[in-house]
Amino acid sequence: MSSVKEIKEAKKAVAFNRESLESVLKRRFFYAPAFELYGGVSGLYDYGPPGCAFQANVVDTWRKHFILEEDMLEVDCTMLTPYEVLKTSGHVDKFSDWMCKDPKTGEIFRADHLVEEVLESRLKGDQEARGLLKNANSEAEANAEKKKRKKKVKEIKVVKLDEKVAKEYEEVLAKIDGYSGQELGELMVKYDIRNPATNGELEAPRAFNLMFETAIGPSGQLKGYLRPETAQGQFLNFNKLLEFNNGKTPFASASIGKSFRNEISPRSGLLRVREFLMAEIEHFVDPENKAHPRFDEIKNISLKFLPREVQQSGSTVPIETTIGKAVASGMIDNQTLGYFIARIYLFLIKIGVDEDRLRFRQHMANEMAHYAADCWDAELQTSYGWIECVGCADRSAYDLSVHSKKTGEKLVVRQKLETPIEVTKWEIEVNKKLFGPKFRKDAPKVEAYLTNLDQQELASKAKELKETGKITFKVAGIDGEIELDDKFLTLERKTRTEHVREFTPNVIEPSFGIGRIIYSVLEHSFWCRPEDSARAVMSFTPAVAPTKVLLVPLSNNKELQPIVSKMSKSLRKQQIPFKVDDSGVSIGKRYARNDELGTPFGITIDFDSVKDESVTLRERDSTRQVRGSLDDIIKAVKEITYDGIPWDEATKNLTPFVSQSTD
Ligand code: AMP
Repeated sequence: MSSVKEIKEAKKAVAFNRESLESVLKRRFFYAPAFELYGGVSGLYDYGPPGCAFQANVVDTWRKHFILEEDMLEVDCTMLTPYEVLKTSGHVDKFSDWMCKDPKTGEIFRADHLVEEVLESRLKGDQEARGLLKNANSEAEANAEKKKRKKKVKEIKVVKLDEKVAKEYEEVLAKIDGYSGQELGELMVKYDIRNPATNGELEAPRAFNLMFETAIGPSGQLKGYLRPETAQGQFLNFNKLLEFNNGKTPFASASIGKSFRNEISPRSGLLRVREFLMAEIEHFVDPENKAHPRFDEIKNISLKFLPREVQQSGSTVPIETTIGKAVASGMIDNQTLGYFIARIYLFLIKIGVDEDRLRFRQHMANEMAHYAADCWDAELQTSYGWIECVGCADRSAYDLSVHSKKTGEKLVVRQKLETPIEVTKWEIEVNKKLFGPKFRKDAPKVEAYLTNLDQQELASKAKELKETGKITFKVAGIDGEIELDDKFLTLERKTRTEHVREFTPNVIEPSFGIGRIIYSVLEHSFWCRPEDSARAVMSFTPAVAPTKVLLVPLSNNKELQPIVSKMSKSLRKQQIPFKVDDSGVSIGKRYARNDELGTPFGITIDFDSVKDESVTLRERDSTRQVRGSLDDIIKAVKEITYDGIPWDEATKNLTPFVSQSTD
């Protein structure tokens, strides 16, 4: 087996089995539930040695692919975040999921997941029923037949659905991410969705904020949260980053770090956890020009898209088209967003995502934040269904605007105009002499509030002043309503010649959940050898594989030791991660143990190696082997792993080797 096609077929020969994968992940300590000795806490995981190395390699690839390739400005901001910041960003009020409680048992369900699970299970029951009913006279008979067959899907009730109802279910499932709490409540009533375990009625969905709250400092007075995303730190450092970039846009910042979300019902292993590694980019761009200078490089990449109209029609069949066409037709809002979608795709493929199990799904209008211009998720198909692994949103000027308004600090780009322009706009001036005595320590707050009003708000205040002789407003942190007449301020429309254009950049935000991506790659990489389904293989691409080389002396005969030491020294010097397996078991067994860890190369040292310092190099997936000198073999490993050179090319000067071992 050596051709790509043969390997692909072999990988598909044994059906994927999640239990086998989980057994390998557990046994080889890729990751495990945290605090297991104390019974564990759902949604918290520890990574073991192969998981850590794999994650480090994925992150390293991410840094090179995005930060280095695109010259992004990396920041590392704190996880503890004061209340004010997350209140301003909207997280305190809106960062929630819908939960519903069973008043009898106290159990809590995430409403959208519950609706999804129940409807999916009913549809499965319907499919079963249709299959079983072909040979049975009634549902009771079909159910009895199912019991006899001892189907594993014991939780699925065999009930045939009305065709119209089944279609409705499918349509609801296609739109499941876009429902509000009220709509979910209505669906639960309409389809009689209850506690699946007890059939008990559930309370209507209620919003549950996902942030972990804490107090900063000993007084307990400074309320804070563990950040739910890394983005806010990047927005708050905007002015420093802009200055670092010599005032020029577009530019992007990037950050890799932990985020925390108090998920209602963590499940599906690494896919929904309460503490996870995120890698986020904030690309700041002129709202009037979202063209991307490198768009031509990616415009011909063809991808599978699930635009909102397709989902709205109740379908999940993707459209395949190029990024160029998707942007030209307006399906994707702008070039910069399209550019990042393509770059996300290239990254995911690079780290081993199966292209056939990747699609880009557009957010539906009610799923997207009100300020967002467009949003696409990279979704990966796993045994848990299609999972959002990367979000890519055009967040418009929302974040910078709200923080600027709240703090009174301008977060804008200033661009020198080649030809000055005349601009007429509302301007407000406050009478500082009266402000001080009236507001005392609150004077700067009130002034900042007024000077940060936008043109629309100023126009409305001017109207109020003209009609009533005063303006009234409230300022966060100051009790009661404030009332000011025209002695305290002037509000006029003025025309000025401007030499500088000032604008708040828009933000395109690709946001990666590293744990979700890692789990999907684990599933996409896992297969079992057709000749022995107990022999599992992780087909990691060499660049992200935790260990690159397994050194296997043919036996533990002392004569082989000097070559093992020489080879180890050389691999260490070249910083190629390797392991030596000189245990007494057969070479075949030793390779099998490392196939499970995804080690792409095996180097065998035998008695000929002692004579001429030649060794054998084995490739994990195909098990083909070549022979050459120590140096040539290491060179080939390096080229394949770090330079992306294909096996055939990197080994063309080495001698094909037919193994006598029990591979
Ligand atoms: P969001 O800000 O909700 O769009 O999330 C950004 C990314 O973070 C998603 O695409 C996921 O990959 C990841 N993510 C979000 N929530 C979780 C979670 N509970 N567990 C693991 N990854 C998550």
